[in-house]
Amino acid sequence: MSSDKPAPHFDTVNLHSDRRDKPGHGALHKPVHTSIAFEYEDARDLAAVFQGRQSGYNYARQQNPTVNALQNRVTRMEGGLATAAFSTGMAAIGSTLFALLRKGDHVVSSSFLFGNTNSLFNSFGNFGVDVSFVDATDVANVENALRPQTRAVFVETIANPVTQVADLARIGELCAQRKILYIVDNTITTPSLFSPRAVGASLIINSLSKYFGGHGDALGGAVTDTGLYDWSGFPNLYDNYKTGPASQWGLTQIRKKGLRDFGATLAPEAAHSLAVGSETLSLRVERASDNALALARFLQAHPKVSKVHYPGLPQHPQHALASRLFRHFGALMSIELREELDCFDFLNRLEYVVSSSNLGDTRTLAIPVAHTIFYEMGAERRASMGIADSLVRIAVGIEHIDDLIADFSQALA
Ligand SMILES: *Cc1c(COP(=O)(O)O)cnc(C)c1O
Repeated sequence: MSSDKPAPHFDTVNLHSDRRDKPGHGALHKPVHTSIAFEYEDARDLAAVFQGRQSGYNYARQQNPTVNALQNRVTRMEGGLATAAFSTGMAAIGSTLFALLRKGDHVVSSSFLFGNTNSLFNSFGNFGVDVSFVDATDVANVENALRPQTRAVFVETIANPVTQVADLARIGELCAQRKILYIVDNTITTPSLFSPRAVGASLIINSLSKYFGGHGDALGGAVTDTGLYDWSGFPNLYDNYKTGPASQWGLTQIRKKGLRDFGATLAPEAAHSLAVGSETLSLRVERASDNALALARFLQAHPKVSKVHYPGLPQHPQHALASRLFRHFGALMSIELREELDCFDFLNRLEYVVSSSNLGDTRTLAIPVAHTIFYEMGAERRASMGIADSLVRIAVGIEHIDDLIADFSQALA
């Protein structure tokens, strides 16, 4: 490619990702490779692959051609260096942190977290890794929590379910100054709305199960190295993974100690579904974001709704920040109902809005948060995360907006 040609845009890059790597036969999709084992005509090559002297496939728990094509796609979408895919988003988070942390380490995390990530981080204490939870909408809280042993800062972009927006750029600057690994979970914004690399993220987490695949039919997760972190200064890397350029060291250890040893491998069939689903990512996210903004305005004005949490509303505490950072405000919102309204009755009256725990589907889904996904953590922790008992999370889909508003209108009447 000549250097005076402008760089292609996000959708173009995504749509042509498989083709660019020449899947063979002129095919436009990378096919589903189901083989677990890979043959070597010269056994010396097999040894070279095992010893990391040669690239190649050895066993499908670690590498698979279909999964690799998806990894390349995520890397291009995030503008990163390389990606490792996992069976779920939780596997990506858990395997990454287990691979990189050691006893005595400290992590600073946003307290506004996906429920299972919160649960996982609470278990880390049992393994000698201390996690401090702070209100990451203000960088000062992150800075005050840093210790000499702090190895990583973990934040989500738009937090689920109350939609707090982390002070992403300032936290990035802080982590760069202190040479601390900065991990950003981009699941709710996706690479189509936000590029964590632009705010200095070292590693980007995506649950591919949500908007990325987008149809509620395949689980997956990914961690992408943006290439911004200098791994030569990271104290927890094993010497035998420090081969080749230092930019590769972190992801090599995540692949070996995380993916290989924990074994939460993405299935090639799921990788294929996720790749195909992702081709309409920005169309879906834009439509769902437009729907969410219209619905948020409608609900905000409704007398039976006491509160609407949505970053696209001017009343949202981080509205200005979200306007600067994200291309749209996303499709996730939550509402609090007036006391006379029972959240279960309300949900049961909705016709098109499905009572379900997922998000990022094409269909609109809703869930009574305190009674389900945030039930296990208890009332005290819920209160600290701003989760009211009547809170209903709405993951807005791509239905026609008139039908959605009519449905909410009749259910609230
Ligand atoms: C769903 C979700 C995850 C976990 O992803 P799974 O694929 O369900 O394991 C992690 N982070 C966020 C923000 C999520 O919404």
